[in-house]
Amino acid sequence: MSQTDMNIFETLESEVRSYCRSFPTVFTKAKGYKMWDEDGKEYIDFFSGAGALNYGHNDPKLKAKLIEYIQNDGITHSLDKATTAKGAFIKSFNDVILKPRKLDYKIMFPGPTGTNTVESALKLARKVTGRTDVISFTNGFHGMTIGSLSVTGNASKRKGAGIPLQNTVTMPYDNFVNEDSNTLQYLERFLEDNGSGVDIPAAMIVETVQGEGGINVARFEWLRKLESICKRWGILLIIDDVQAGVGRTGTFFSFEEAGITPDIVCLSKSLSGYGVPFAITLFRPDLDVWSPGEHNGTFRGNNHAFVTATAALDYWKDDSFEKEIKKKSKMTLDFLKEIADKYPELKGEVRGRGLMVGIACGEEELASKVAAEAFTRGLIMETSGPKDEVFKLFPPVNIDEEGLKKGFEIIEESVKSLVK
Ligand code: PMP
Repeated sequence: MSQTDMNIFETLESEVRSYCRSFPTVFTKAKGYKMWDEDGKEYIDFFSGAGALNYGHNDPKLKAKLIEYIQNDGITHSLDKATTAKGAFIKSFNDVILKPRKLDYKIMFPGPTGTNTVESALKLARKVTGRTDVISFTNGFHGMTIGSLSVTGNASKRKGAGIPLQNTVTMPYDNFVNEDSNTLQYLERFLEDNGSGVDIPAAMIVETVQGEGGINVARFEWLRKLESICKRWGILLIIDDVQAGVGRTGTFFSFEEAGITPDIVCLSKSLSGYGVPFAITLFRPDLDVWSPGEHNGTFRGNNHAFVTATAALDYWKDDSFEKEIKKKSKMTLDFLKEIADKYPELKGEVRGRGLMVGIACGEEELASKVAAEAFTRGLIMETSGPKDEVFKLFPPVNIDEEGLKKGFEIIEESVKSLVK
């Protein structure tokens, strides 16, 4: 593409875009953990479509199933009609994911993306309880439509709505990650304080690891306490696993190791495994109060996504995949700790769980500089946090050790070039 053609992005595309500015090239091809631009330059992908490509780009098994389905003129669009692809996905999801984890949920197809599953969860919680308010947490991210934005704890994102967003209470997460959990004590007092006529909320919505908010990891005890508060007050607990789910933290659901059972779970991003938009909402069977048509949409449940998602579930048939992720997660955390120690100029704080990890830099701009420098050296990496102070390592979870190490080298070279 010539420079003039490149200008198309500058002159005709709306300023809403931002990734083009962070990664200034035109990509043409991708496989596994690698991407190539139109000049043939190779990049290692530690971004994974913001968590939509946990199995990497163009996974050969998923691709083969999709090609076979298309070649056999499989149904592409079916709205709510039953199709074999949809049936196979529901059965596999139940057999491979829910049953072995002793989870009993109904599956709903809320629309194509993460924000759709959050919208459906909020609607369902309000419909079931007949209550309005939803409690969410500072720096949580739940989507860009009005409902999901109203529970997103980030002022600059909320501004995009153009109006004040109502009926949500955002609680500080200060102690989300630390020992003294004042937030939850405050929450309990707030709920107990009948004197001030506080309305009991319909739901609480939380990420177990805040992906956009800075890789803030909720302690397992914190999550268990949150669950017990929800139970005590009849508040529905919604876990937004859109980014942390589908293996990103080392288990299929990010909440498994905490030993909690949410009432509602939101999944999307890597669920199709192939970058095809797909989302599901899981909820306790007794919460199924929907009447037909109350939450519909033209693109609920895409058949191509059913096909690739079903193929991707094969990875979860035994625990070898989880073990691999955990091994690579340890390698990655060890590497980050080493970097933080070796380069004190970073004033780095290592954060994360599974392959959802990063370093928060003491000087905020440094994280963006590391990501920009890494990009010139052939590594794609995002920043996160309210001030973009965290450089975030999000490789495909099935990356091999060689790929990980290549990425680590580029990160170290980038840090070194900036701080020395
Ligand atoms: N929830 C979480 C935790 C997310 O990270 C995101 C997207 N980054 C969303 C919801 C919204 O998903 P989508 O962009 O697919 O609408």
